Amino acid sequence: MLADEVASLLDHLGVSPDRRHGTRAVRSPLTGETIAHLEDASSQGVAETVAHAEAAFRQWRSVPPPRRGELVRLLGLELRDAKDVLGRLVTIEAGKIVSEGRGEVQEMIDICDFAVGLSRQLYGLTIASERPNHRMMEQWHPLGPTGVITSFNFPVAVWSWNAALALVCGNPVIWKPSEKTPLTALAVQALFERAAVKAGNIPDGLCTVLIGGRDVGEALVNDPRVPLISATGSTAMGREVGTQLARRFARGILELGGNNASIVCPSANLDLALRAIAFAAIGTAGQRCTTLRRLFVHDSVHDEFVAKLTRVYASVRIGDPLASDEVLVGPLIDEAAFETMQCALAEARAHGARIHGGERVEEKRFPNAYYVRPALVEMPAQTGPVLRETFAPILYVMKYTDLNAAIEQHNAVAHGLSSSIFSTDMREVEKFLSVAGSDCGIVNANIGPSGAEIGGAFGGEKETGGGREAGSDAWKAYMRRATSTVNYGDDLPLAQGVRFDID
Ligand code: NAD
Repeated sequence: MLADEVASLLDHLGVSPDRRHGTRAVRSPLTGETIAHLEDASSQGVAETVAHAEAAFRQWRSVPPPRRGELVRLLGLELRDAKDVLGRLVTIEAGKIVSEGRGEVQEMIDICDFAVGLSRQLYGLTIASERPNHRMMEQWHPLGPTGVITSFNFPVAVWSWNAALALVCGNPVIWKPSEKTPLTALAVQALFERAAVKAGNIPDGLCTVLIGGRDVGEALVNDPRVPLISATGSTAMGREVGTQLARRFARGILELGGNNASIVCPSANLDLALRAIAFAAIGTAGQRCTTLRRLFVHDSVHDEFVAKLTRVYASVRIGDPLASDEVLVGPLIDEAAFETMQCALAEARAHGARIHGGERVEEKRFPNAYYVRPALVEMPAQTGPVLRETFAPILYVMKYTDLNAAIEQHNAVAHGLSSSIFSTDMREVEKFLSVAGSDCGIVNANIGPSGAEIGGAFGGEKETGGGREAGSDAWKAYMRRATSTVNYGDDLPLAQGVRFDID
């Protein structure tokens, strides 16, 4: 019984039994069985949580940033201790293979380390003033309670990309996890609370979790006391959240869908490309925002490459990730994901596709879970379902002859998240990376589009939402910038030579 194992994992992680009852059934995609019940937050509960976060903000913003970093350092230590247990819970709740579940927790640890260093580097510029005896500078101040809405497919890492930065920047964090993966959120909250006890003097309400569906997310998005919402999920969700935030002039970090592509050039190292493409297209059962969904292969290597890829697709091991480390593909999240995948394949067929795989497997063993063989779909052209994101393991393969035309096709979709080129010709690589190349937020060479490191800013353009999280200077979105001009002279020269003399 998975429910028993989940109960003991939650005990181990310190999730209070008080939080583990209610009317919301949580199910595991591994078997389809119910593994826990939880209670949704009420609208009053949301309002009270935001009020606590506001009170916490007044204290936390005045704590020196390196001391805020100490809390995040302690959280990183808790995560190290809990890596295997939390990773296993990720596998049970989101269906990822075991090494990816652990990898997700490692990503949390990495961003904590990054944020600890960042806590001593929240600096602004000093800027030359045009006026004598004046100095200009930028200061970065904490912004306020930060709402974090997350998707099911990175149930814990996405929170940590936001929370680690928000906390060192001086903001409380209110988390509305996916309704499909609320248990891992409660587990992370319990680890945070342990770290907070060890740190001491941490205000109540600094980090909180609101369990619930879209209505709870909407209540958070519409609360005027929350100046920043970081929302990860579908483009449809982002369109609604973005509109609501714009109405009240709040800030948003939108991390939405992707329809990511790679180009395989004639000079590519095909063995390397094969491994990279297999991981990017099949890994996480095609349920990463950065999953490879479109592949353009030069006609001189197309047949050889597609034949190799077809063999990989036919042989990759699919099944319950807890049963064996050799399983590389776990289940889809639910029946709706399976139906959406089948619709996309039927539509592709109508557009002239030749399809390898895509069928349901393990149905007898797990009648209530949805395991599928990843689908390799040879398309005559980029039409129909190829133009949109289907959150399932479907890779559309197309032939190309001219790189410029392939890049044009590459960019001719609504999303702009991640991309890559496989080539050993530096002219081709540099073209793809240049202004005339990929229009995505992530542009790689000789690796697949998925599997980003936390050191870089993560996010994408167009209908991916434009937000950036994690490394580089993504922290600036969690703070407010004050530009200050100081006059240390006795005159009052005005900018632009304006004269305003009074008697
Ligand atoms: P989803 O849009 O169904 O749900 C995401 C979250 O938004 C959930 O917590 C949900 O309750 C909440 N939500 C939905 N509608 C809302 C509304 N109107 N107001 C407030 N909250 C609302 O997405 P999903 O199925 O959980 O995740 C898959 C999608 O997420 C894919 O499109 C994938 O590409 C995307 N994704 C993007 C990134 C990224 O960084 N760009 C990362 C992971 C996933």
